[in-house]
Amino acid sequence: MNIKKLVIAPLFAIAFFSFKPIDKKIIVIDAGHGGNDMGAIVDGISEKQIVLAVASNIKKLNNSQDNYEIVLTRDSDNFPTLSDRTAMINKLNPEMVISLHVNRSPAKESARKGHEIFTQNSDASKALATKISNKFGECYIGEKNLHILRESKAPAVLVELGFLNNTEDRKYLSSETGQKEIAQKFVEIITEK
Ligand SMILES: [Zn+2]
Repeated sequence: MNIKKLVIAPLFAIAFFSFKPIDKKIIVIDAGHGGNDMGAIVDGISEKQIVLAVASNIKKLNNSQDNYEIVLTRDSDNFPTLSDRTAMINKLNPEMVISLHVNRSPAKESARKGHEIFTQNSDASKALATKISNKFGECYIGEKNLHILRESKAPAVLVELGFLNNTEDRKYLSSETGQKEIAQKFVEIITEK
């Protein structure tokens, strides 16, 4: 038996396994609903489509930098359950989680418009909410006992991007320009960290 081989092989193994690629920090963007779960729907425009478009734009726009990797809980019109989503999140152990939704009130035309942010009961979640409201404009921020917030171990917020039954919001949220603008703002929030 070649003694050299016996010595070199384990050394090689140690060197190989201690080599790690530069760790990109992970940020999870959760597009709410999907598949048979349309979320809110007004005039044929659904929440599930809007949030998927915004999430996909965030991932696309974020490709220009190397510090953060965006992982989406869904990148097509499918429906991972809430438990699937939080299991995935807790496995990835991301820096932060942003869950995207769109509001709708019972009225036919909502006088209320604009975004709202729900947080976990933690400073990190509230700090993230403050950053988002600084970027998007002052808005309601409050704690809420929602699965994605309660079960995610990472700092998480749920952002309602606007009211689907407010005509102005609906036009903006369903437009390509609006979806890109919103995505760009999230990318700025993520990268300014
Ligand atoms: Zn929703």
